[in-house]
Amino acid sequence: MQWFGKGSGNIEDRRGMSGGGLIGGGVGIIIVILGLFFGQDLTGLVSQLPLGDAAPVEGKKGDPQDKEAQFVDGVLESTNQVWVKQFDQLGKTYEQPVLVLFSNSVQSACGNASSAVGPFYCPGDHKVYIDLSFYEELKNRFGAAGDFAQAYVIAHEVGHHVQNLLGISDKLQQARGQLSEKEYNKLSVKLELQADYFAGLWAHDAQLLKDFKLEEGDLEEALTAANAIGDDKLQKQAQGEVVPDAFTHGTSAQRVYWFKKGFESGKISDGDTFNARDL
Ligand SMILES: [Zn+2]
Repeated sequence: MQWFGKGSGNIEDRRGMSGGGLIGGGVGIIIVILGLFFGQDLTGLVSQLPLGDAAPVEGKKGDPQDKEAQFVDGVLESTNQVWVKQFDQLGKTYEQPVLVLFSNSVQSACGNASSAVGPFYCPGDHKVYIDLSFYEELKNRFGAAGDFAQAYVIAHEVGHHVQNLLGISDKLQQARGQLSEKEYNKLSVKLELQADYFAGLWAHDAQLLKDFKLEEGDLEEALTAANAIGDDKLQKQAQGEVVPDAFTHGTSAQRVYWFKKGFESGKISDGDTFNARDL
């Protein structure tokens, strides 16, 4: 894949921050332990520290200097361009999401998450979260190497942001109480497949915008990634830990089907996974 994109200016870099915002709790515990060790009460220090849950965490803004992050930034900007146009056609304004880079663990409006949950989108703060080590895992564990696969991951999460802006994810959350677990899971799968569709739609439009030029094998790469990420999470609106959901993301065949459909169509209206009969 040849990349021609530029940066978004919407990257928030929290890499290297202790716990990406879990500083208060972590340091607090250490101080208590030190206190026990030295036989002194040092807990007074704790109150001077920002507490994990109370303090809003802000990472470093601006253009990232390393190549990996620059690439992610470029993909984010490409999704911005695509979705601004798509929303324009709907007579709506696209609100650009922020992408948070973190290492190990992070605090979001949806709760605290460790890297183990994989990349995720939090509807509560309109941010996409990713620990770039996930790309290593994608390569080593799932055999999905390559930049287009990496771009797909971002485009899928941005797809969840689009669903949030369009009110689709909200409807699902509201219906949650009235549905059986099984019915709800079914709808969750449809939500995931629609995010795949939106990722495909992004690829369709971005290519027309000449943000990148697909090379042989790129599409297959993205589809391998689509198969591999069965595990990103619908975020809880409430505070608390980000807990892996029980539902699946649909079968590999379904995911590939909807990604491809988006890539071929390029229209939001063709991506109604909720009323599709072929599910
Ligand atoms: Zn997802």
